Parts: sequence; structure tokens; C-alpha cells
Amino acid sequence: MKSSILNSLSMGSLWTLPLVSETFPTVDPRTEEVLADVAKADVEDINRAVKAARKAFDHGPWPRMTAYERSKILLKYADLLEKHNDELATLDSLDSGKLYSQSQGVEIPHFVTRLFRYYAGWADKIHGKTLPADGPHQVLTFHEPIGVVGQIIPWNFPMVMFAWKVAPALACGNTIVLKTAEQTPLSACLAAKLAVEAGLPPGVLNVVSGFGETAGAAISSHMDIDKVAFTGSTETGKLVMQAAARSNLKPVTLELGGKSPFIIMPDADIDQAVELSHFALFFNQGQCCCAGSRTFVHESIYDEYIEKAKARALKRVVGDPFKSGVEQGPQVDKAQFEKILSYIDVGRHEGANLVTGGARIGNKGYYIQPTIFSDVKDDMAISRDEIFGPVQAVTKFRTVQEAIERANNSPYGLAAGVFTKDIDTANTFSRALRVGSVWINCYDVFDAAIPFGGYKMSGQGREKGEYVLHNYTQVKAVVTPLKNPAW
Ligand code: NAD
Repeated sequence: MKSSILNSLSMGSLWTLPLVSETFPTVDPRTEEVLADVAKADVEDINRAVKAARKAFDHGPWPRMTAYERSKILLKYADLLEKHNDELATLDSLDSGKLYSQSQGVEIPHFVTRLFRYYAGWADKIHGKTLPADGPHQVLTFHEPIGVVGQIIPWNFPMVMFAWKVAPALACGNTIVLKTAEQTPLSACLAAKLAVEAGLPPGVLNVVSGFGETAGAAISSHMDIDKVAFTGSTETGKLVMQAAARSNLKPVTLELGGKSPFIIMPDADIDQAVELSHFALFFNQGQCCCAGSRTFVHESIYDEYIEKAKARALKRVVGDPFKSGVEQGPQVDKAQFEKILSYIDVGRHEGANLVTGGARIGNKGYYIQPTIFSDVKDDMAISRDEIFGPVQAVTKFRTVQEAIERANNSPYGLAAGVFTKDIDTANTFSRALRVGSVWINCYDVFDAAIPFGGYKMSGQGREKGEYVLHNYTQVKAVVTPLKNPAW
């Protein structure tokens, strides 16, 4: 099945070859072997994609059709994504090493198909206002699409990131040039094919595969792209913003890194707290922007927590992400694998206590042992930097005030978890933490309706829910004199 899915992506009339006919390999992180060679878009290819998107926006039917017609196409697209659920999930798991049970059973149905249906519902509910003005004028606002939108996505949730970006931008009537991450270009190729089948007019959605410094940079600096939305590292987010400022001052939204605190109070059920904090960090091989990677445990339960967290990590089943019962697959690629192992070395040298793990598993594939450090100090690199791997950093605290101050003492502000039975404590934390999402007695709860995004250097703007619509619309004020203001 896997090879027939890959073959189905081979060249057809929908595809445009790069001008300089170059390809790059995408690698199976389980085996380190090449899965497929993928077209490598360069600056000129981005120019061509932008031209197609521009034409589709300026002269094509998409922004001009009724919102209801757009909504129907998005609903049809969702049906096709649902029909091809297992193929999309297979491609994501092959390319990224994520658990097939997760991509097949959770990500594609609940965070991709569902998202397209959610924004299909929004398409005909996006509208402006009638405003009271002091003078004899009628004042209206139109909420119009921005135009050609550039979107750059990462590799940790390839199809989910595709949906978070594409669905709301299309619902608002924009046209798109989207660049996939070089590690995970495959699933978006199938998704692009399905978009055409759903009836999306030519030039509305242009998916390009290529590298960041060339194709990505060409998007953020393009003079004819009206807005750019980026998800990835904070470092690259800064480059995207600089390029946008230096070119045409296009608005930028950024969903960047994090070092999210997970705070466990002494009244918590310790077994549940162990399980949830384990999930918060190790889910998706630790490759989540909102991973709960700084675990703060109250001093009165610290020793018990460490013992139980260690036992849970040792029980974690690491292996082939297509096998049932496996909880953790390989890291996405060699670069991430080596980066994580080097952070584990740094943790050892900084004097943190290695509780369990700390090494690769086997000698083929990018598998890493679930790793826990205890006695982590706030100024250690493993407590400050986003590792993006299965490395949990645990520290103890004494008071709520101390936990708040230390949790907020980070350049990031993406998310936080709080585990307590006390509603007042929960309310105190949820107001005091400087982060975009607070999960109380839960973690990583995503829903199409819930906004997601960061404070501080974790980003700008919000994705999902109604909030993301602001990213993809312009507000126009229209003023006309009123001949007879009394009426
Ligand atoms: P990255 O930021 O380099 O890549 C993300 C996307 O940006 C990719 O599509 C890439 O091609 C593109 N890109 C790279 N350089 C660019 C440039 N100069 N201009 C425009 N686009 C560019 O991330 P990475 O190298 O894949 O991973 C590095 C680190 O980023 C990870 O260790 C992790 O800390 C973080 N990360 C965060 C997220 C997230 O969801 N917030 C996702 C992936 C990676």
C-alpha cells in the first residue's frame, strides 16, 4: 500500500516541474533510506506560483464567487480528505516518523478534515459592520480577503499545519502559495491534488516543495505576496519578519517555538499528574511547539513524582510508528536527532541529574530513549532552549508565586499546563501565566474553535477559531453622505 500511495503522487498534468529540474530526497526516519525524490522549487518557481495566485486573485472566480459557493467547495474538499484519510496519514507517518495511529485516527480526521468543515461554516459568516458616526454619514466596513497569501509550514504536523493555514485563508477568499517543510513534502502533494478534484479553481492553491533559504525566503521577501503566515523556529520567524519588512511590509503572523511549563501542585492526583506530564512532553516524539518541556513539581511530592515518572518513561514503547502498541517513533531527521543528543550531553555537563534514557536506540533510524533530567536549574540550556525531542526537564518549587515567576521567566510564552484540584489556584495560574494557552488538568487539547498562538517570542497572531480570520482579511471603511440624516 505504501509504495502505491507514493506512486500515485508521481508527475501528472497538475504538476509543474521546477525551471531548473532539480530534486531533493525525502528520507524515511525509521530506516534512513530515501522514500522519494521531490521537486526542488527555487526563486523562479516561487515567482511562477505567485503569478498564478495573483491571476487567480485579481481575475479568477474565487474571491468573486458567493461565500456559499466557496463554502460548498471547502465541504467537498473535506469529504475528499476524509475519503483519503489513510493515504494522507500514511504519507505523514512515512515522512515524519509520527505514529500511524495518531495521524490516521486523530490528526487527519479531527484536525484536518474537521478544520476544513469548520471554516466552510465560517465562509458565509465573515462580514463587516454598520457603524454610528458623528456626522451625516453612513459608515460601513467590508471584511475583504487580503489577496495572495504566502504560507510556510514545518514538519512536525505536516497535514495539520497545512489545514490550519489553508482552510481559513481559503474561507476568506484569498489565494495561496504554500511551501512545505523539506523534511515532509509528501502529504501536501496529495492534498493539493484533492483540492483540484474538489473544484478549487486554477491558481487558488499553489503547493511548492523546496528549502527555506531559497523558496521560503523568496516567499517572505516577495513584492507581490500580500501577507505571510509562518510556523517554525523563532530564529527563522525573525528572518521572515525582516524579509517582509525589507520588501513590501506585508503583514506577518508567526507561530514559533516554546518552552512550556507544566506545573504540578501538591493536591494533584500524583498518578494522573505523572501520566499527563509524560504525555505533555513525549507526545509526537517531543516534537511539539507547545511541548510541556519544563516540569515544575511541588517539593512535597517531588521524590515520588521522579520515581513514578522514571517508571513511566521506562515503560514507554519506542519503535516502528506503523506498529500497534508503539508510543514513540523516530525523530524526524538526522539533524534533529543529533541536535537532541547534543542537548542531552549539555544537560549532563551542566550538572542536571540524568534519571533515565540519554542515548539512541539501535543503530538504524533516528530513535532516542525517553529521557528525564531532574534537579534542573532555570539557567541551564536544557531548561531555556527548545530541544524539540523526548527530553523532560524536571525541577521543584515551593510556592505558587515562585512557580508563576519561574514559569514566566522565559523568552517564550506559548502554552502552560497546571495540575491542581483547587479552583482558586487554577484561576490564579491561568491569569498570571504569560502564555497563549493554559490547559488546566489537561494538555494539548486542540479544537477547530480554540485559538492557538504565542505571547512574547512564541509568535504573533492566533490560528484557528474565529481569531485567525483577522489574519486573512482586510477591513475597508466605506463612507457615504446621508442626504436625509433624520431617516
Ligand atoms: P525552521 O524554522 O528552520 O523551518 C520551518 C519552515 O521554515 C520550513 O518550511 C523551512 O523550509 C522554512 N524556512 C527555513 N529557513 C527559512 C527562511 N530563511 N525563510 C523562510 N522560510 C524558511 O525549523 P527547522 O529547522 O525545521 O527546525 C528547527 C527548530 O525549529 C526545531 O528544533 C524546533 O525548535 C523549531 N520548530 C518549531 C516548530 C513549531 O511548530 N513551532 C515546528 C518545527 C520546528
